[in-house]
Amino acid sequence: MAEDVIFLDPPPFSWRSRKISIRPARWYVVVELDRDGYVDVHGPEASALPAEIVEAADKLRSAAMDRIYLDGYTGNFLWGGGDRTITLFMPFPYVDDTVDALRSAEEERNGSKLDALASRLALPIGDWLLPGERQLRRGVDFDARPHTFLRFLRAKAHHQGLRLNGRATPSGVWIRPQLSRIEKLSRAAFPEEYVDRPDRWSRVPQTDGPWRPLEDRIRDQGRSDDVSPVVFRQVKVRPTVDCPCGFRDAFAEFGIGRHEAQHELWSIGLPIPGNINWEHGNIALVTPQSGVAWRRLVAKIALAPKRENGYDFTTWEVGDQAKPSLTNRRAYLLRFQRYIIGYLVAEDRDHHRRWTLDPDDPYTGDDSTTRPSIDLIWTAAVHRGKAVGSALVQALAESAGCPQSELSWSTPLSPAGQRLARRVSPNGIWVH
Ligand SMILES: [Zn+2]
Repeated sequence: MAEDVIFLDPPPFSWRSRKISIRPARWYVVVELDRDGYVDVHGPEASALPAEIVEAADKLRSAAMDRIYLDGYTGNFLWGGGDRTITLFMPFPYVDDTVDALRSAEEERNGSKLDALASRLALPIGDWLLPGERQLRRGVDFDARPHTFLRFLRAKAHHQGLRLNGRATPSGVWIRPQLSRIEKLSRAAFPEEYVDRPDRWSRVPQTDGPWRPLEDRIRDQGRSDDVSPVVFRQVKVRPTVDCPCGFRDAFAEFGIGRHEAQHELWSIGLPIPGNINWEHGNIALVTPQSGVAWRRLVAKIALAPKRENGYDFTTWEVGDQAKPSLTNRRAYLLRFQRYIIGYLVAEDRDHHRRWTLDPDDPYTGDDSTTRPSIDLIWTAAVHRGKAVGSALVQALAESAGCPQSELSWSTPLSPAGQRLARRVSPNGIWVH
């Protein structure tokens, strides 16, 4: 169907002519009475449409939009106010009747056809949202797809201050409309605003427990007749008491909730909070002069290695305010998707010794070069062995403008730290 225009005034046609245009879209047809030029020529007063006609058009538009939503449309509609243009969005089967109704409204100042069409299209939303738990059947109570229908009813219920428990099944939907908590408070506080909308929902007896469709309950009752009881036994087993995330006695009563939080941070890293604007790249360099949100972020990440390794002190202090660090203390954070999974903290030091990386060899020499010195490297547990640590070391060396072999490492090095150091500087490292 292509766009179609019907002129209501005799030819010659111009911008002054009143017209009805018909523009099909994917889900609906836009039927528009355009009288803009006509109003300009005849003046707003002489050409005004009676208020009841504009009202009838509003009612029709609203009823028709509900129908289109029930067809599955999820977008928006846009239209203007006033009586210069009457825009309607119609399901395809009602286009001819709509044109007829608009013509009668414009030419005869008669809104009765608009009214009649609106009534024909109006959906029994009030009936659908009556109190009580029940089923609305597809093909009997409604025709739409049950999921679409439930979504539509939810939106309508919400509009009326109702909360809709519901479930769609292939044959229909189960619903139980209830007043929302806020609506109850509002009704108690401003009863005068609700005189024409009495509370029909609160007096319906509520069933206990999570709400389920009746069918399921009956099915469950039938099942319980022939179930056999679960059998219990006791066997010897020695699961871990302390968790590798560093939580002691992690599975005892007092650890519930607290351990999970710590474990999550340790295993998958720290979700990046919404107040952090990580502009680009996957490494962020944070210093004691960075904004407080960033300083706090580092302090949070620093908790993971502190707990895992049982340190008494954290490697990062938030600080009361942003201030420069005399030792150029800085943290590198590495992100993957929405998580921070790697953390390296370093500062500049000028006391170093040399180590061959052979566990039997002592530290030797005395070096007073100022070197970027790694205090700690940490990787979220699930990402270990994936070169996260070496990427952080590389970032540190690159931003200091020195080869990775010139960096200094904090002692004692963990076995994982030794492996990493051996990879970036196989002939020995500086330590502090
Ligand atoms: Zn744990």
